[in-house]
Amino acid sequence: MNIQGLKDALGHLDIEDNPAVLKKKSRDFYWFSPILKRELDEVMGDLIVSPKNEAQLTEAISIAYRMDVPVTPRGAGTGNYGQAMPLSGGLVLNLLGLNDINRPQLGSIVVGAGATFVEIDAAARSQSTQELRIFPSTYRSASIGGFVAGGSGGVGSIRWGGLRDLGNVSRVRIVTVEATPRILTLEGDEVLKIAHAYGTNGIITQVEIPLAPAYVWIEMIVAFDNFDQACTFANDLGNQDGILLKELAAMAAPIAQSYFIHHAKYVRHDQDTVFLMVASQNLAALESFIARRQGEISFRSDVLSLDQLHSLPPLFECTWNHTTLFAHHANPNLTYLQILYPYPHQIETILRIKNLLGNEIIDHLEFVRFDGHIGCMGIPLISFSTEERMEQLIKIYEDNDCIVFNPHRYTLEEGGMKRSDPSQLAFKRENDPKGLLNPGKMVAYDNPEFNFSANRKYLFSSLKH
Ligand SMILES: Cc1cc2nc3c(=O)[nH]c(=O)nc-3n(C[C@H](O)[C@H](O)[C@H](O)COP(=O)(O)OP(=O)(O)OC[C@H]3O[C@@H](n4cnc5c(N)ncnc54)[C@H](O)[C@@H]3O)c2cc1C
Repeated sequence: MNIQGLKDALGHLDIEDNPAVLKKKSRDFYWFSPILKRELDEVMGDLIVSPKNEAQLTEAISIAYRMDVPVTPRGAGTGNYGQAMPLSGGLVLNLLGLNDINRPQLGSIVVGAGATFVEIDAAARSQSTQELRIFPSTYRSASIGGFVAGGSGGVGSIRWGGLRDLGNVSRVRIVTVEATPRILTLEGDEVLKIAHAYGTNGIITQVEIPLAPAYVWIEMIVAFDNFDQACTFANDLGNQDGILLKELAAMAAPIAQSYFIHHAKYVRHDQDTVFLMVASQNLAALESFIARRQGEISFRSDVLSLDQLHSLPPLFECTWNHTTLFAHHANPNLTYLQILYPYPHQIETILRIKNLLGNEIIDHLEFVRFDGHIGCMGIPLISFSTEERMEQLIKIYEDNDCIVFNPHRYTLEEGGMKRSDPSQLAFKRENDPKGLLNPGKMVAYDNPEFNFSANRKYLFSSLKH
């Protein structure tokens, strides 16, 4: 790879090769996994380019294409599985500069891929009294392009479902990696070619996403004496059609009291908890539902003074993978898995596995709407011992009819459904003919013969150390 030649050719754009910056911008939150930490710790790009607009981006891509240099797109780098890490080195494409935010229309907004959720939501609220329907708990830093390419769902999924559900991303504009890059617009089913493809088959420059009316959300922690009660309450609350929720998560003791430094004082060590956000107009209805189930409201944001409120982070920063982040900070030996429990038997499955595994796991559940039904994703905290034991745990979940999205693998397929998506693969072949885009992440492209059911781990042969 002729890196000096690349620097010379891109010299008129915003480039960076300071080793400390390069190291930082070659990483994401891969270290949540002790296995990925070991495997990917040395991964480094060779040069960062930060285009300010689509024209500069297109120019950088055509130069990289001509020089056969791998290109790894990157937003804020908050992904978890080494998604944005340049496994073969080369050019790191910092897309945060493509951050234009158009004026919101009724029901939707068009934004640049580098715009962050906090910026988009602020624009939607101030200019149109609307808000984002779904966002990751990394709202304050993550980009919309990174979410569409790497995310799955988050706050709002209890009402609106996941990222790849039809309608949750209205339109995506992408640039291909060719001698003369093409600009394509994807809508409807076509969006699924690029959504959650880890930036392997096109570079997103603009996204249109739906908006909903902006509500006043009340944050609440409801405490219970046992986990069975907490998760049954959460599951049943999710099914209350008249109560509008933005977030609904159940956390086994001692998560709330031991790991959440800001909210710990509201909960006892032995309490199992439900973290939720409810629309203010449904507060009284929610209080009635909590009373019926003998829950204890241990925290509610509507009774706090402004000073108290400002001293706390938003409650959603205790949910999704923020739970894992805080738990790992408190106990670096804690890592996680990502589980989809079988609908409609999610609660009995969760409790059965809890009985089997005892203290080896601490349950964290996120309730989500799947095709009109309230189902449940698990992000259990796990005391890490060995990679072999992690595989055994995955097998136990799978033997109990769960689907495991393995966060200890860096490839799209192994971290997902363990099979390739033919439409995403075909799209890569069309848009990235030299295979330069985020190499090593799509197994189906690198090694079409790889057998996912043979229980082998895919090792990318060009992993650059
Ligand atoms: C504490 C914590 C909590 C999280 N909570 C959630 C959550 O609630 N829900 C959720 O889904 N995820 C969550 N994540 C994962 C991650 O934060 C989100 O997926 C986030 O949206 C990624 O955005 P980003 O800008 O940081 O993307 P990056 O990490 O920079 O990139 C993610 C992937 O997208 C690709 N990419 C980035 N920009 C583009 C582009 N413009 N075009 C093409 N490809 C691109 C990258 O190559 C990479 O494969 C969490 C992670 C952490 C560490």
